[in-house]
Amino acid sequence: MANKTIEDYLKAIYQVDVDQDGAGTTELAERLGIAPASVTGMLKKLAAQDLVTYTRYQGVGLTNAGRAIALDVLRRHRLAERYLADVLGLPWDRVHDEAEEWEHVLSDDVAARMDAALGWPSTDPHGEPIPSARGDVPPLADTPLARLRPRHTARVARVSSEDAEFLRYLGSMGIYPHVALTVLTIAPFGGPLTIEVSGQCHAIGQGVAERIFVVDISPLPAAEEPA
Ligand SMILES: [Zn+2]
Repeated sequence: MANKTIEDYLKAIYQVDVDQDGAGTTELAERLGIAPASVTGMLKKLAAQDLVTYTRYQGVGLTNAGRAIALDVLRRHRLAERYLADVLGLPWDRVHDEAEEWEHVLSDDVAARMDAALGWPSTDPHGEPIPSARGDVPPLADTPLARLRPRHTARVARVSSEDAEFLRYLGSMGIYPHVALTVLTIAPFGGPLTIEVSGQCHAIGQGVAERIFVVDISPLPAAEEPA
């Protein structure tokens, strides 16, 4: 049945698919921190178990069975993170590593009780949605900050990173879910964005802005601007 490695693969495939619109072996290998050749071998095994669809040129996809396991692992992971943050007071840059273990050992019953004790939260401390016990997850309506236009204000929806140092960097600028920020300027040729957060200006790289997902809350209707 689903062991730790299988669960980690299915979860990673799901996440790469959500964040990058389609999972290829390269992105997946990067996410898992494993050589692409080993990833290919594992994908063939998962395909034989009917958990993924995998063709060399079309990349990787989850079957319904694979997706159900991925969402179940994500549910336990994100509930554990919320619990560690809200009940035990762990900062947001420390909850992930702990939850990486909890996601494989929490029983359905304990996860359900944790969910109730927390008041059925909808997101984890990084803003990622927590799938329901039935495997429902709301569709994401956010875009990378890198795609926001100058003078637009947005609310941070989620931060897609498991890197503690990266999260501390965002925290040092006051960037957390629900915080509003404004893009002041975007340097040409892939240069940095200047943003304003709580009255302070910061220059951040495009790579950073790709990992912060926001919802545009500018009063300007998008139709008024050239595409
Ligand atoms: Zn996490």
